[in-house]
Amino acid sequence: MHRRAWLTLLPCPVALGCPAGGPGAAGIAGDPARPCAATLLAGGTIHIGFRPDDRPVEALGLAADGTVVAAGRERDVRAVACPDARVFDLAGACALPGLVDAHGHIASLGRDRRQVDLRGTADAEEAARRAAERAATLPPGAWLFGRGWDQNGWPGAAFPDRETLDAVLGDRPAMLTRVDGHAVWLDSAALAAAGIDAGTPDPVGGAILRRPDGTPTGVLLDNAIDRVTARLPPPDPATRREDLRRALEHLADRGLTAVHDMGVTAEDLLELEALSREGRLPLRVVAYLDGTRPLPDDRHAGPLGPRLRLAGVKGFADGALGSRGALLLEDHADQPGHRGLEVTSVPGLVELGRQAAARGLALAVHAIGDAGVRNALDAFERLEAEGLRTGVPRIEHVQVVAPADLPRLAALGIVASMQPVHAVSDMPWAEARVGPDRIRLAYAWRALAESGATLAFGTDFPVEEPDPFATLRAAATRRNAEGEPAEGWYPGQCLDVRAALRAMTEGAALASGSPAASGRLEPGRPGDVTVLDRDPLAVPLDELDDLRPRFTMVDGVVREPRREVP
Ligand SMILES: [Zn+2]
Repeated sequence: MHRRAWLTLLPCPVALGCPAGGPGAAGIAGDPARPCAATLLAGGTIHIGFRPDDRPVEALGLAADGTVVAAGRERDVRAVACPDARVFDLAGACALPGLVDAHGHIASLGRDRRQVDLRGTADAEEAARRAAERAATLPPGAWLFGRGWDQNGWPGAAFPDRETLDAVLGDRPAMLTRVDGHAVWLDSAALAAAGIDAGTPDPVGGAILRRPDGTPTGVLLDNAIDRVTARLPPPDPATRREDLRRALEHLADRGLTAVHDMGVTAEDLLELEALSREGRLPLRVVAYLDGTRPLPDDRHAGPLGPRLRLAGVKGFADGALGSRGALLLEDHADQPGHRGLEVTSVPGLVELGRQAAARGLALAVHAIGDAGVRNALDAFERLEAEGLRTGVPRIEHVQVVAPADLPRLAALGIVASMQPVHAVSDMPWAEARVGPDRIRLAYAWRALAESGATLAFGTDFPVEEPDPFATLRAAATRRNAEGEPAEGWYPGQCLDVRAALRAMTEGAALASGSPAASGRLEPGRPGDVTVLDRDPLAVPLDELDDLRPRFTMVDGVVREPRREVP
């Protein structure tokens, strides 16, 4: 019972001075057109938004469909309650506008989560046992995937072999990826499916581990892994839908009420649409089509059933900093003569923007290096001049910005869609890549905020865990999960928690271009709510990671996180 204290339902006639009116009366006395509050939240801190002058309110009232009816003093909200209203006593917990992850990849997260988790296994036999348990749930012949094994934690620290898997999996192909992604462990069926045998040469930059007679042991390193992945069958629609559903439940468990999927395929959009129409989306999805593929002609901006909206198209200006693909204006500091990859030129981005505009879709551009960001800005400027701006333009990541370009985002009304956790993941090597000057405007969310640009925060899941509290901690402290460095990494770019939360609510809502969502709990707006165990504005900075979601509300539906996350 204790666990559910925050969901205590106070029956209206006992707890409230309920307004007069028969049971089921739909309207408020004096204004039958205005819906009454079917749900009331009170008894804790309630933030309606995170602008500098926003103050918490005592109570929040939502209509049956989840629309905010009233937010303010408790007695005023109670005055508009339906006769049969349900009342949630927050019991000291904290309600806020629903948290949004403004950049992620739902299908990839689902694929990752389909894999058997092999972290913490004591030896190869235990890993094989876990794999066999999962295999028992799969259709005959289907590939089994797993990840997370680490032979350094096993007796003898030796790489495992295919026979250990063959013994429990028989002829089912299996690919188990090492914790770092740089090695895979296959059984004999998978080796055969990939066409790898004693006669297969090692590829450049990779290795097939072998016995003295040349036969593969079952472990492949680095570029040799491509031989398997290139031959994997594409997942069937049912598997893809299940991947999406699994990922969405995981995202909702994190306390999120909406995610922006930055790069869905037309096929996955169909599956999302099916889930939406079946009422199986546990949170809102704002979809951006993958602009590296031909855009479907029949897709236009707008809702695709409950909780799903197609908003835009995502293109790529450059690659990533870690793999040296980020396009920089000057050489990479640790590789003279190398400036990175121009994945799409300015004319290419403009053309993508034209195709997006023809469908009413917004353009989002992945840009990491300062030259990539400049190209994106130039493309947006040209589209603006041609009158082809649709929806809300956004630049994804914005990791390195040239000082001259800093004011251009605000001037062009472009949202900076950033992932604070990337900064603390990349900090061990990022400065070597860009050098001591450019690092000052790298992952520079504070400088961007002060330039007047709207920030929207996300995690780029599954690259990072879709953990909104890690985002808060990284944004506000620029420390990693271990609390390092103590003073924060380039702490001048720390944002206060209020501003970080604004980027995860109002900023994300603005970025989505949704006409309804405001990311604020204001009357007439969708009342997407995240309830946390504590007030993020009141906890010490080093406890932000420990915040936990109690429940979420979307469209008036309460959802508690599942205790066991599959
Ligand atoms: Zn991404």
